[in-house]
Amino acid sequence: MRYVRCHYRGRNRTGVLRNDAVALYPERFADLTAVIALHPVERRDLVTDESASVAEVRLLAPLTPPKNVMCIGRNYADHAAEIARARQTDEKLPEFPVVFTKAHTAICGPDDVVRLDPAISAQYDYEAELAVVVGRRCRDVAEADALDVVFGYTCMNDVTARDVQKAHQQWFKGKSLDGTCPLGPWIVDAGEIPDPQALRIEMRVNGERRQSASTGKMIFSVSRLIATLSRGMTLEPGDVIATGTPEGVGIGMDPPRFLADGDELEVEIERIGVLRNAIALGALAAI
Ligand code: MG
Repeated sequence: MRYVRCHYRGRNRTGVLRNDAVALYPERFADLTAVIALHPVERRDLVTDESASVAEVRLLAPLTPPKNVMCIGRNYADHAAEIARARQTDEKLPEFPVVFTKAHTAICGPDDVVRLDPAISAQYDYEAELAVVVGRRCRDVAEADALDVVFGYTCMNDVTARDVQKAHQQWFKGKSLDGTCPLGPWIVDAGEIPDPQALRIEMRVNGERRQSASTGKMIFSVSRLIATLSRGMTLEPGDVIATGTPEGVGIGMDPPRFLADGDELEVEIERIGVLRNAIALGALAAI
């Protein structure tokens, strides 16, 4: 099952993608977070007979999480090593998950053009990531039970302003610029991904494969991350956990290769799909 959020006839709607059509949920469910919060039986009974063809809709980021996107840094050993080389810092692997967040105002949708201001950063970079969507309110989840609280999975591109990330020491600002969190194109039901540690994950820039790994190479598994994050801290329906990126980011190359105007980025994750976004460098429009 692929859960989507889309723009259709002037409104933001949610629904389920089936072949070339979206079976739309009632209009009051304008964000998948509200759908995810329902009891599974209520959700099953929710689909209306209203349907839109895929050609009539524009897909949006599937949801706005109730809190900032929770992200894990340095969760693949090869990536931790390339960052340590680039930054000339300690190569020791983390003993505990490195947790930071990304402002939910940074989220943008599949096929959106990511507009980045060159006056703010000269080092925009990409990071392909598996994103986990939490399915229910929970706390102190045991690692053995952790996958039971997952609603589904989607693709994320943790676009990062490397120089801003470094300058402020805490990563929040350099990870939270507007448009730097492409998410989607849909959420795949967790039932279709019994093992989130057995997925190919890839990043292509203008068709060139830059990152290619298995999610099995995560230092801290999805289950471990949920157990750790939920310890003493409530997770809510629609919360998003980005699980870190594998080796092959732009800053890790010699010389570094940062994003350029017109670049086409594709995050592809097995069993989920492809998240595509183009980059446009230029001043941001007024808000
Ligand atoms: Mg990341």
